[in-house]
Amino acid sequence: MPRLEIDLKKLYDNTRTLVDRMASKGATVTGVTKVVLGNPEVAQAMLQAGVGSIGDSRIENIQKMREAGVAAKFILLRTPLMSQLEQVVLHADVSFNTELSVIEHLNQVASKKNKIHQIVLMIELGDLREGILPRYLESTVRHILQFPAIQLVGLGANLACFGGVKPNHEKMTLLSDLAKSISQKFNLKLDIVSGGNSANLQWFSECGDVGAINNLRLGESIFLGVDPLDRQPIEGLHRDALTLVAEVIESKIKPSVPFGEQCQTAFGVRPVFEDRGHGRRAILGIGRQDVDISGLTPLTEGLDILGGSSDHLIINCQQHPLFVGEEVRFQLDYSALLTAMTSPHITKAMLWPAKSIERPLETQVGHPIVPLNGVQGALS
Ligand SMILES: *Cc1c(COP(=O)(O)O)cnc(C)c1O
Repeated sequence: MPRLEIDLKKLYDNTRTLVDRMASKGATVTGVTKVVLGNPEVAQAMLQAGVGSIGDSRIENIQKMREAGVAAKFILLRTPLMSQLEQVVLHADVSFNTELSVIEHLNQVASKKNKIHQIVLMIELGDLREGILPRYLESTVRHILQFPAIQLVGLGANLACFGGVKPNHEKMTLLSDLAKSISQKFNLKLDIVSGGNSANLQWFSECGDVGAINNLRLGESIFLGVDPLDRQPIEGLHRDALTLVAEVIESKIKPSVPFGEQCQTAFGVRPVFEDRGHGRRAILGIGRQDVDISGLTPLTEGLDILGGSSDHLIINCQQHPLFVGEEVRFQLDYSALLTAMTSPHITKAMLWPAKSIERPLETQVGHPIVPLNGVQGALS
């Protein structure tokens, strides 16, 4: 079975490095677990590395981590579904919100349960994903303050997701100024002013003064060690904390151009081929049903991905012959990681460091976890 190897020690290192960098300017990290579907072991490694809270966009993931015994402050990063308000009040300590109608209902649910639910208001700074436009912030806050079971604990923003808008000095200053102005106007203590996601790291490292911003929510940078603005490596971080391993099921010398009458492929295109003569090609037992194959990079030199179908990945291995039964490793981009993690056909294999972090609770929730004894030793 193909497997995704998750090296908890490397995730711990990456988190630790980012937590320290952020702490140097007085800011905390929320470790974002959605790309690993709220995996409790990963959350535990992040917490041991010093994140102040765990954020996930799905309440099911938060519930799973709680039930697995992860002790953390949990933040729901996506505005709650109206149909899930009970779970949100029950399992999330804080939720990000953008809709008064949702907040009003959260207030009712929390009141019934005799709880105070904390919220962060997301501000639309131009990326056009979620958020309240700045000109409506004041009236929205005034409204929220009338809800007895709701406590407004912060403001947040999210950039570089839908619209590809860069979190720069101007955007962060605006968020910071909005936070200062509403906390003054309404005499509020805002514990969380969350500037954004991994795409904010460049701004963070270059800015002299973070203003009122005291938190970033980091996922991709921790998992992949790259900056989402340009996908360049971030200095000091591991880029291979997660790797995909697949197995060769066929290896043969074949022509480089298909022969026969040409029609559409299984995916509706008419491919064009360059004639490079005959060469060695391999097929791996993994495909588009498992992973976004465009996001895979072979970790072995001399391998070239030619394409794939639902369950076959075709590789030109003329420069580095592959043989049946052999394993091939790949680096993943965000999309490949998201899909591989979600595929039931890919085993998730946790690599346990022997000493540096304690092995957390046995938490067999969601995916089979296969400890790899051989590799364990190598990490100690
Ligand atoms: C996914 C998500 C993040 C984390 O983004 P990365 O680019 O993976 O760091 C942060 N905030 C929100 C609201 C998100 O949905």
